[in-house]
Amino acid sequence: MKMKSCCFCKRTEKEAILVACNKDTHICTDCIKNIARQIEYAESLQSTPSANPGNEKKKLPKPIEIKAFLDRYVVGQDSAKRYLSVAVYNHYKRVYNKTESKDEVELEKSNIIMVGATGTGKTLLAKTIAKMLDVPFAIVDATVLTEAGYVGEDIESILTRLLQAADYNVQQAEKGIVFIDEIDKIARKGDNPSITRDVSGEGVQQGLLKLLEGSIVNVPPQGGRKHPDQKMIPVNTQHILYICGGAFDGIEKKIAARLNTRAVGFDTEGKRSDIDRDNLLQYIQPQDLKSFGLIPEIIGRLPILTYLDPLDKKILRRILTEPENAIIKQYIYMFKMDKKQLSFDDDALDFIVDKAIEFKLGARGLRSITESIMMDDMFEFPSSAKKSLRITREYAEEKFSKANIHDASK
Ligand code: ADP
Repeated sequence: MKMKSCCFCKRTEKEAILVACNKDTHICTDCIKNIARQIEYAESLQSTPSANPGNEKKKLPKPIEIKAFLDRYVVGQDSAKRYLSVAVYNHYKRVYNKTESKDEVELEKSNIIMVGATGTGKTLLAKTIAKMLDVPFAIVDATVLTEAGYVGEDIESILTRLLQAADYNVQQAEKGIVFIDEIDKIARKGDNPSITRDVSGEGVQQGLLKLLEGSIVNVPPQGGRKHPDQKMIPVNTQHILYICGGAFDGIEKKIAARLNTRAVGFDTEGKRSDIDRDNLLQYIQPQDLKSFGLIPEIIGRLPILTYLDPLDKKILRRILTEPENAIIKQYIYMFKMDKKQLSFDDDALDFIVDKAIEFKLGARGLRSITESIMMDDMFEFPSSAKKSLRITREYAEEKFSKANIHDASK
C-alpha cells in the first residue's frame, strides 16, 4: 500500500503529522500552519484605511483629557503624566490629521523616555495610554536583545509583538505603541567608547535606531531569530510611538556631578537655588543619559525625557485604594460577586503599606501582601454562611505572619 504523504511538502506520515483532506489527499500540520500565516499576512495587506474608519476618524483627546484619564489609573507622577500627555497628543495629531498640503510643517516624532525606579508606574502609564487610544500595544524587554552577547532576539522581533497585538493587521500595528522596558540595560558601559568596548550594548543601540527612525523594517511574523525560510512582513515604523523606560540605577550620581559643576546651590542670577537631593531624577537632562552610556543618536530619537518620582508611604497608601482598579476595590468586588461584603479598617491598610516599605517591595508588593492576608478567606469564604468580613489590623498581622514573604533587598 502506498504510504500517505503531505500533498504540499511530500513528507510522509513517518516524518510529519498528517490530516486527511479526503480519501487520497493529505496535508501535514506544519503546512496548514504555514498557510494560515500566509492568509493572515495577505488579509492584513488588503485591509485599507476605509476598512477601519473608526480608527482613522477617531477623536483625539486633548492633553488635559489624556492626563485626566491617566489620573484614573495612576497615582501621582504628575510630571511624567504631563509630558506623556503632550507627547502622545502631538504624535497622534501627526498621525490622524495628516493634510495633503505642500506647505505643511513637518512634525517630528515624539518618542519618549521615562527614567524612574522599578515599580514606580512606567509600564502602567504606557499601558494606560494605549488603552485610552485603543491602539495596539506591545511591551518588550530590551534585555532579551543582548542576552548571551548578540545571540538574543533580533531587533525586528520587537515589532513582531506589536504585529501580534494588532492581530497581524499591519496598518493598525503601524499606529501602535511599543513600550521598551529596561532600556538602560543596553547602555554602553563607560562614557568613552574607545576605552571600553561593549559591543553588545552599542550594537543593540545601533539596531534600535533603525526602528526609532521612520523606515520600512522587515519583521519576522513569528519573532525570534531570523530564519531564511520565514516570510517577512514589511512594517513602516514612521508612526509607531516608542515609549522607553528604565531605572538607570546610579544615574543620580551623574546628575549630582553635573549639578555640582555649576556654582553649588546658586543659579545663574546668583540667587540661592535649592536642590532637592532626595529626588535628583527631576533634574535629569539628555547629557546624563549619555554619561550613563546611551549613544547620542538614540538620545536624539527619544526627544521627550521625563522622570518618575519615588513612591513614598502616602502614595503607596493611595495606590492601594484610589485607582479605578485598585487592589482593595478588586477584592471588594470579588466578594460582592459572591454576595458577600468585605471591608478593611484604615489601620489594616496602613499595615499593608508599612510591610511593603519594610520589605522594600514597592507598589508591586502591595498585591502580594494583600494576597497573603486574604488567601485563606478567598478559599473558605465563598462556602461560608457568613455574609460579611472585616479585615482589622490584628487580623491582617496574624495572617501575614503565617505567609512566606521575604525582604526584596536581601
Ligand atoms: P515599572 O514599569 O516602573 O517597573 P509598573 O508600571 O510595572 O512599574 O508598576 C508595577 C505595579 O505597581 C503596577 O502594575 C501597579 O499596580 C503598581 N503601581 C506602580 N506605580 C503606580 C502608580 N503611580 N499608581 C498606581 N499603581 C502603581
